[in-house]
Amino acid sequence: MSKIFNVARGTADILPADIPLWHEVESKARLVFKNANFSEIRTPAFEETELFARSMGQTSDVVQKQMLTLMSQNAQEGETSGLSLRPEGTASVVRSYIENSMDRKEPISKLFYIGPMFRGERPQKGRLRQFHQIGAEVIGPQTISPLLDAQVIAIAVDILKRCGLNGFKLKINSLGSAQDKENFSTFLRDQFKNHLSELCPDCQNRFERNVFRILDCKVQTCRAVVSNLKLGISHLSDDSQQYFQQVMHALQNMGIAFEHTPTLVRGLDYYTHTVFEISDPSLGSQDALGAGGRYNDLVTLLGGPQVDAIGFALGMERILLANATREIPAQKIDAFCVFFDDNSLAKAFALIQELRKYDVSCDMSFRLSSVKSQMRQADKNGARFVMILGDEELKEGKVALKEMATGAQTKESLDNIAQLAQLIKKGS
Ligand code: AMP
Repeated sequence: MSKIFNVARGTADILPADIPLWHEVESKARLVFKNANFSEIRTPAFEETELFARSMGQTSDVVQKQMLTLMSQNAQEGETSGLSLRPEGTASVVRSYIENSMDRKEPISKLFYIGPMFRGERPQKGRLRQFHQIGAEVIGPQTISPLLDAQVIAIAVDILKRCGLNGFKLKINSLGSAQDKENFSTFLRDQFKNHLSELCPDCQNRFERNVFRILDCKVQTCRAVVSNLKLGISHLSDDSQQYFQQVMHALQNMGIAFEHTPTLVRGLDYYTHTVFEISDPSLGSQDALGAGGRYNDLVTLLGGPQVDAIGFALGMERILLANATREIPAQKIDAFCVFFDDNSLAKAFALIQELRKYDVSCDMSFRLSSVKSQMRQADKNGARFVMILGDEELKEGKVALKEMATGAQTKESLDNIAQLAQLIKKGS
């Protein structure tokens, strides 16, 4: 017996019955982005590994453990192509921003993307190796404004609300400028140095490499150490404090509920100033719906001009999981054509071809079968009308048009397909 193939671990088929839900989320997001004057960008699914390593930081979990790197075709053992599947969208968008000199074309680039991302994680509910993100990046020389930070957060919140989610929580914090971050990491090292033995092995490692990450470790003993810290915004300079106060003020003015969470640091090196995370307690252990923040130094780090930026990414699978009870009606067609013999089969085939030119969605059975079975098929496809090509109708050059909801039946001429199409589409 030949081998039966299964979908690869950590990936999933999105089956036709679920597609309307995906379309709904995508179209809500597109509408929110359109209202806010964002344009879509599509970047390739893989890039140079070094791009991700440089932007996300060598010490990030994603770069250290989760990068899916491609092998080159004639690879010797351990040799790679230097290319990796994208684990997130920001690095690629910034690479494209620089490569296409967007800073010379516009003072502010408002970009969004929707697409698959890839990480070699241990799969579990809500955590996949191929998942999908809706993301936004605002990049340019004129993008430092607390109002813009608040606006970007508001866009993420608006997308989630329009997707029917209400139970989520927004946490925000500020990491300050690169100098503030430096001061903060010195402060944290000072605080942790007497508690090293209480930290988990990962955090003992993080102490040197990326001390911020200790703040969001889930291990109980690490949490206990962190909860004894007195954190506020005092590690920020006056300017950074004022900036953050203005972001919070703008959110309050927009009626967006949030919690200032001083331990929120995000795992990636590139964040500066505002960072935020949106989670939904109903999701269990993988409760993050999305996250983002400001990354004023990333564009220069990747060899680009001195411009600032802010962005976010929302996980589409998580949005759908948080909204699991939602039902979307199955796709329906306008009309289904029923025929009786080889002669009417040919006529039916020609008729549906013509009607489709007028954007009537229609279908037929492509092999002769009983009328009963064709009617069943019409029903299964949710056809609003059934078109019947019986002997009598064909002799008269007509088609019987039956409206399924009411049972009302009329005869319509086949001479004027535009008119027939109009009749079928009326009220659809
Ligand atoms: P991150 O770039 O890790 O902050 O991810 C942003 C959002 O993408 C998260 O809040 C999740 O909603 C989603 N996400 C990240 N990793 C995965 C994954 N492995 N599987 C499913 N969704 C994910």
